[in-house]
Amino acid sequence: MQVYIEGKAFRRTAHCECGWNGTPRRLRSAAIVDAGIHAAQTGHIQAPAPVQSAEPVIVLRAA
Ligand SMILES: [Zn+2]
Repeated sequence: MQVYIEGKAFRRTAHCECGWNGTPRRLRSAAIVDAGIHAAQTGHIQAPAPVQSAEPVIVLRAA
């Protein structure tokens, strides 16, 4: 399973391949926290850094 952050500024939302969607957040960091909580609760990701897929975030920031 992979958790990623999506959405425009102020509407960052965490999503997961399992179909879970987080609450839209004003701050990307808040969405990342949502993703981390989801990953921890479901056991999808066990790495210390919950969000492994930083690429979409980087693309959004560069755009
Ligand atoms: Zn999930």
